[in-house]
Amino acid sequence: MGAFSAFLDILFPPRCVFCRKFIKSGRDLICDDCESSLPYTHGAEKKGEFFSVCIAPLYYEDDVRESLHRFKFKDATGYAKTYGKLLADAVRDKLAGRYDLISWVPLSRNRLKERGYDQAMLLALATALELDDVAVSTLEKPLEAEKQSLMGSAERRRANISGAYRATDPELVDGKRILLIDDIVTTGATLSECARTLLDAGAKEVLCAAVAQTRD
Ligand SMILES: [Zn+2]
Repeated sequence: MGAFSAFLDILFPPRCVFCRKFIKSGRDLICDDCESSLPYTHGAEKKGEFFSVCIAPLYYEDDVRESLHRFKFKDATGYAKTYGKLLADAVRDKLAGRYDLISWVPLSRNRLKERGYDQAMLLALATALELDDVAVSTLEKPLEAEKQSLMGSAERRRANISGAYRATDPELVDGKRILLIDDIVTTGATLSECARTLLDAGAKEVLCAAVAQTRD
């Protein structure tokens, strides 16, 4: 730790991202209590119609839920580093060698404008950094009006009610196994929709990883 960041730690003592207790070292931003008592999934997985598997290191409950809420809605963007580490450990453990490309579930442009940051993108970047890799954009979520015009005929629109996402660069995903990152997985419907879009664009397989998942 450099002198300047040590100085900042005195002025603004780091807090545990989960229980918000002040901690001495800001390295991982998880206190010892949380480290030993977080609701770890111990490798529990979810499956989806269009993705092969979704892993998540934590269950979405109690302090994990509160923490993710601050990350998602209260500008606690610094949490991405801590979450990224947890995600990277889970990916190394379960999905090593099974993907070619890291990407994320994007926010719609109007939501991004409201919030000012895309939390899943931050997670993907932080996770990739931990894995000594890079994360790239593969999907976008057009505005409602754009979506309508993209879909063309009324018939196609009916057949494709769900078409909320669009592959930004089919050439990039063609033949690739994609690791898609999101913050929380509940039913898996969003991940499934993203995976379907990527498969339609030519991806070979989609695997997913989230910080937390609900219990089935
Ligand atoms: Zn804690």
